[in-house]
Amino acid sequence: MMLSSLMDKKLLTPGPLTTSKTTKEAMLRDWGSRDINFIELNKSIRKSLIELIDGENVFECVPMQGSGTFAVEAMIGSLTEKKSKILILINGAYGQRMKKICEYHNRPHIVYEVAEHEIHDLMEIESIIDSNKDLTHVFGVYCETTSGILNPIKAIADLINKKKLSFFIDAMSAFGALPLSVKNLSFDAVAASSNKCLEGVPGVGFVLMKKTIIENTKGNCQSLSLDLFDQWYAMEKNDQWRFTPPTHVLAAFYQALKEHNAEGGIEGRHRRYIQNCNIICKGMKEMGFKQLLPDHLQAPIIITFIQPDDPNFKFNHFYDSLSEKGFLIYPGKLTIANTFRIGCIGHLTSNDMYKALEAINETIEKLNIQLN
Ligand SMILES: *Cc1c(COP(=O)(O)O)cnc(C)c1O
Repeated sequence: MMLSSLMDKKLLTPGPLTTSKTTKEAMLRDWGSRDINFIELNKSIRKSLIELIDGENVFECVPMQGSGTFAVEAMIGSLTEKKSKILILINGAYGQRMKKICEYHNRPHIVYEVAEHEIHDLMEIESIIDSNKDLTHVFGVYCETTSGILNPIKAIADLINKKKLSFFIDAMSAFGALPLSVKNLSFDAVAASSNKCLEGVPGVGFVLMKKTIIENTKGNCQSLSLDLFDQWYAMEKNDQWRFTPPTHVLAAFYQALKEHNAEGGIEGRHRRYIQNCNIICKGMKEMGFKQLLPDHLQAPIIITFIQPDDPNFKFNHFYDSLSEKGFLIYPGKLTIANTFRIGCIGHLTSNDMYKALEAINETIEKLNIQLN
């Protein structure tokens, strides 16, 4: 395979996703991890991420090598204890993954699970909390990327705050595009990564948590590499990563954060993603595709469509044809129906969305797929 001859494809996926040329170009340099320039870059990234949630002076940022799951696992394994008792709100694969992490780390937990196309009932959450007096934490997912559903994170946070429990958020596919400010939403920790709405390349995640929380977590984590306290303590002490940092990924992340800011921060990015999402939803509907979620539950991140009944529709053929035209879509991950997904995040414009719709239209004609 000749890498240089490969076509650049647009990634209509939930990550890794399309990044700007300038973000990719930021990786064309080697960095010494103890060099002052790299130390400054690392400090700047941590500071910017705290500023994005308006958490100055209250929150700390601990980056973690790896994909988003490494950050979620580090958050759970480091910031809870064996005597914690956790309620996990599940409506998709990423809620399930938090449960699995609790099992690996022996963290006592109960779950409140609803179907993948539904959100949790607040009264039911309240009644579960009231009848489990030993609960210490609640975990929730902001945008559940499995379906693309927008969970009512503010209402959930308000309730948990009222109940005086500690709220942890997996905001992986929301951070940087959907509103998340400590000024109006109360939580103790949030995990996200470089390569979703912040449009960096994959390879680093991060956890933002209250300083009063991280300070008291020494010895909690059963894993050395995922120990957030140890990572935080070392970085605070000498400004350096404990183990080899993903230097190029961080350089790209620094550039991506600059571009996020130039676009108008969270609001600017939210606006572009809403436009992208609206174009895809409207165009697909006009062709006859059915969207899984009603508009009011659809986050402008990734959209799930029901696979057409026509036997001419085979996901692999559909996928391959779109790939030949330069667009990569995503298979469905639902247990309730056969679906496929189209992401609208990443360095993509309205024009890319119109071109993707054109490619889909040509594909359904070529494969003779009937939609009704
Ligand atoms: C992408 C994602 C993750 C992390 O997935 P990785 O494949 O480990 O990067 C976790 N939670 C949500 C909601 C996600 O969208």
